[in-house]
Amino acid sequence: MTEDVLCTFCGCLCDDLRVEVADGRVQKVRGACRLGASKIMGHDRIKTPMIREDGVLREATYDQACARAAQILLEAKRPVLYGWASTSCEADRKGILLAEEVGGVMDTTATVCHGPSILGIEEKGLAGATLGQVKNRADLIIFWGCNPAEAHPRHALRYSSNACGRFTPEGRSGRKVMVVDVRETRSAKNADKFLRLIPGTDYEVISAMRMILGGKADVVPETVAGLPKTQLVETVEIMKNARFGVIFFGLGMTHSRGRYKNVDNALSLVAELNAFTKFVVMAMRGHYNVAGIGQVMACASGYPMSVDYSRGAPYFNPGETTICDLLNRKEADAALVIAADPASNFPRSTVEALAEVPVIQIDPFENPTTLLADVVIPSAIAGVEAEGTAYRMDGMCLRLRKLVDSEFPSDEAILQRIIDNVRRLRA
Ligand code: SF4
Repeated sequence: MTEDVLCTFCGCLCDDLRVEVADGRVQKVRGACRLGASKIMGHDRIKTPMIREDGVLREATYDQACARAAQILLEAKRPVLYGWASTSCEADRKGILLAEEVGGVMDTTATVCHGPSILGIEEKGLAGATLGQVKNRADLIIFWGCNPAEAHPRHALRYSSNACGRFTPEGRSGRKVMVVDVRETRSAKNADKFLRLIPGTDYEVISAMRMILGGKADVVPETVAGLPKTQLVETVEIMKNARFGVIFFGLGMTHSRGRYKNVDNALSLVAELNAFTKFVVMAMRGHYNVAGIGQVMACASGYPMSVDYSRGAPYFNPGETTICDLLNRKEADAALVIAADPASNFPRSTVEALAEVPVIQIDPFENPTTLLADVVIPSAIAGVEAEGTAYRMDGMCLRLRKLVDSEFPSDEAILQRIIDNVRRLRA
């Protein structure tokens, strides 16, 4: 039994799993939620590299697939290299090197999830904390526009509402839990207080709370976005009187009307709450290393996502260098997709545009993007078959271990082979 194994599924990056390995295979996973266990056990693996010929994907060798991938990227005028959130930081670094080599645009899944949060944080700054601090100290936990009961199943038990910490030994009974959302989710059902928002009114509600907090409740109307002012006053009082409060926010806030301005406003609310008590805020990041690719890109280029390397120096302009915009404008003429599934979560017209360009897919698992890929390269699962580094949603850097040997090369090794081929073809 291997102890203290990390789960490479969601941004919680749980590091307390026990995994039984026998005959070179993972036999049992203990301590993980169903999402994590299913990934570690492995399912629907891509078995061999494939290249599309005459409309059909045919088996190929790694050498052939990497050479074809390099050729596609070199022939393209505006290649996009997309994904990077479910692989290691070491593979992310190789991706940046490849983007520089081919003059491509490097974009991440954050562009369609917490991208607005990153922009809001860059604009405003962040009163942050680690999940350990939340576990040990928080007595008020607010989930805003997120549903951890279903998206991050062990978040409550390990880090937030139900966790027992050094200064929170009573766990759930010693904490107050609030949910702000547009519908009554499972997380909302478990909360002490639920504020139901009209969709797209986050900005108004946060602004009203800031007015109340600033002593200007008299100018706030009797109802704000369908919520009675009395309820907002009561909520702000609870926040002011907390010993240590935290707002966890999700895509409900970042993808409703207002987008990064909602986040900017929420960060301002939290900053102002610190005049009364200790309050922090954190984005509920989805993929296990989506925080890591942001760190690696910011370190390498100064920008957290959507970086264009075609000018010889990094250039970042969301709306221009984001993958959906490049595809919608029919500017992108090739795509490398790694550890992501844009065919499942991009808008339909964008998926149609993606299907018109040559696509290279690097992934351990088959997914709808495989159906439109021209080159498919299977890889090892990071944290199970390959080691590496990943960043948890709170920015903690953790080491992924290799548990079993694999016939598949790591993402990092595959990217290096493509880089070698690019250099060879250009020589
Ligand atoms: S909560 Fe997330 S990181 Fe933890 S076991 Fe479940 S999927 Fe894995």
